[in-house]
Amino acid sequence: MSRGTAAPVTTAHRRVLLVEDESDLARVVKRHVEDIGCQVRIAPTGESALEAAATQEFDLVLLDVMLPGIDGLEVCRRLRARQQYMPVLMLTARSSEIDKVLGLETGADDYLVKPCDPTEILARVRAGARIVTLARELDEACAEVAGLRADAEVHIAEIERLNRTPAACPRCGARVAA
Ligand code: CA
Repeated sequence: MSRGTAAPVTTAHRRVLLVEDESDLARVVKRHVEDIGCQVRIAPTGESALEAAATQEFDLVLLDVMLPGIDGLEVCRRLRARQQYMPVLMLTARSSEIDKVLGLETGADDYLVKPCDPTEILARVRAGARIVTLARELDEACAEVAGLRADAEVHIAEIERLNRTPAACPRCGARVAA
C-alpha cells in the first residue's frame, strides 16, 4: 500500500487515449506525450474512442471536440455515463466551443484551446496522472475501511454471542445465564 507517504506521481506507463481526427496533429501530440513516458493510443473518431475505452482502461483522455460522426462532447458524455472514472481533457479549436465544453452536462475536467502548446498539454497530462492516482488511492482506502467495518461487525457479533452464552461454574459445571 502506497498511502501514508507522499510518493511522487509519475507519468511513466500512464495510458493516454488521444482522440483526434487530424492525423498530423495526432502524431505530434502523441510524440510529446510519449516523451514523458506515457503510452498513447490514437482514436481518429468518436466511435473508435468509445470502443477503445470500452475495452481498455485509460489514465487520461485527450479529446478533440470537432470529430466526424459522434463529436467530442457526446463522447465525453458517454464516457461519463460509465462506471470507470477517467479524467477528460477537451481540445477545442474555437473559443465558441468553450462554453459547450464547460457546460456541466459534458463532464469534462478541463480544456485547452488549439493550437495547444506542448508544455501546456504535458502539464495537464501530469495533473491528470495526479488526479487518477488520488482517485485510486481513495478507492483503495474506501475498500480498506469497508473491510475493517466487516471485521468489526464479525467481532461484535461474536462478543454478543459470548455474552448471551450461559457461563459455566468452574467448580460444579452448573450453567448460569449471563
Ligand atoms: Ca478535429
